[in-house]
Amino acid sequence: MVLDCKHVWDQISNYIEGEVPLEMRAAIEAHLAHCRHCAAVLDSTRNILILIADDRTFELPVGYSARLHARVQQELAAAG
Ligand SMILES: [Zn+2]
Repeated sequence: MVLDCKHVWDQISNYIEGEVPLEMRAAIEAHLAHCRHCAAVLDSTRNILILIADDRTFELPVGYSARLHARVQQELAAAG
């Protein structure tokens, strides 16, 4: 399975949470190994998720996924 960057971004939060099938996970890891752009996106997304997870009083709000997606798009734009 060969993924392009857009496929990786679509799956990245699921990937971090371990919710992707093994074959998809392997494909994402293969992509990340040679794509610095996606590796940077992975790092930013993981940081956002860690920040959210660290705040125990904070439950995932409705629209969280949409906001995460928007944030990832922002990171991508900033990364050029
Ligand atoms: Zn990529």
